[in-house]
Amino acid sequence: MHAFEYVRAADTEQAMATATADPGASFLAGGTTQLDLMKDGVLNPFRLVDITRLPLGGVTRTGNVLRVGALTTMEEFAADPTVSQRLPFVRESLLLGASPQLRNMATIGGNLLQRTRCRYFRDPTVAACNKRQPGTGCAAITGVARMHAILGTSEHCIALHASDLAVPLVALDAVVHTLSLDGGRSIPLTEFYLPPGEVPSAEHVLRHGELITSVEVPLLAQGARSLYLKVRDRASYEFALTAAAVAMVVADGVIREARVGLGGVATIPWRARFAEDILRGAAARTETFEAAAQAELAGARTVAGTAFKVELAQRTLVRALQTVAGMAS
Ligand SMILES: Cc1cc2nc3c(=O)[nH]c(=O)nc-3n(C[C@H](O)[C@H](O)[C@H](O)COP(=O)(O)OP(=O)(O)OC[C@H]3O[C@@H](n4cnc5c(N)ncnc54)[C@H](O)[C@@H]3O)c2cc1C
Ligand code: SF4
Repeated sequence: MHAFEYVRAADTEQAMATATADPGASFLAGGTTQLDLMKDGVLNPFRLVDITRLPLGGVTRTGNVLRVGALTTMEEFAADPTVSQRLPFVRESLLLGASPQLRNMATIGGNLLQRTRCRYFRDPTVAACNKRQPGTGCAAITGVARMHAILGTSEHCIALHASDLAVPLVALDAVVHTLSLDGGRSIPLTEFYLPPGEVPSAEHVLRHGELITSVEVPLLAQGARSLYLKVRDRASYEFALTAAAVAMVVADGVIREARVGLGGVATIPWRARFAEDILRGAAARTETFEAAAQAELAGARTVAGTAFKVELAQRTLVRALQTVAGMAS
């Protein structure tokens, strides 16, 4: 790790001004992504702007919308009573991620901005990584790619987006609030992330020095049921192979409302709109769920190591839909 300057920001103005003035500066929240990648030599900022003392924590409810401050920890958010009652699949996504120690450090803003776990991205001795070093190629496409994406990929990068939390949030139409020296912005989470396309190094729409201040999360309708189903190689402390975030309102056997996100399979937290279109207004039965899962995965593109994920993702989604509909436990 090379030498860097550490600055503890006293207020948001100072944090934004310090970071904006220096292209080599990065914000530091819980540090569970940022410091790991610095120690591995993947990220080399010359200045770290510590934002942990800024007043950006806490969860507040206004009507049917919850606002979570960017510096709220994953554990704090999961413990909020409204999250338990009205956003159970958000709570599940938080508690199925990382470990208690990490969740007590890791913040909501940092979680949304965590970097991919692609082994080639995280190993600077590997030369070919378009995300880490634009124009060098992609070692994963011809290499070992079990934990990689099959949706939203490009010929330049197949890296997975690793956040569990972002999956139900994208299904809920959450909105990210930011602040920069140019003022504030509200960015729908569905428009926040950039698929790799030609430029895998660009991962989101934030500008350098722009701070996430909070995330606004609409509550589920009364009577909605939800589930975050995470399939992984071991039962704890592991990233998803596939995941499905499902919320539905079913009445008289008919699906009145459906929100679906997929994790573990895409380069961005994946809003499953094809599946939602099939589900809404249809009978809540296995044939409907299978049709929805097949439609969503129809656009999957695999490499040798990820071919198994197509069926696994379909099964994960069908299982989640059956469970939410009360047809499986
Ligand atoms: C061993 C391990 C296992 C894990 N398992 C899981 C898992 O199963 N599921 C899962 O979802 N996650 C998992 N994680 C990832 C973890 O959730 C993230 O590392 C964490 O949420 C990042 O939050 P942080 O506060 O530590 O961010 P930091 O590491 O401090 O920052 C991350 C990035 O976000 C930027 N940033 C942080 N806050 C802001 C802000 N408010 N505005 C603008 N930029 C900001 C930083 O500059 C940095 O680029 C795991 C991590 C580890 C180390
Ligand atoms: S998948 Fe993306 S992050 Fe991984 S090696 Fe290829 S370009 Fe790099």
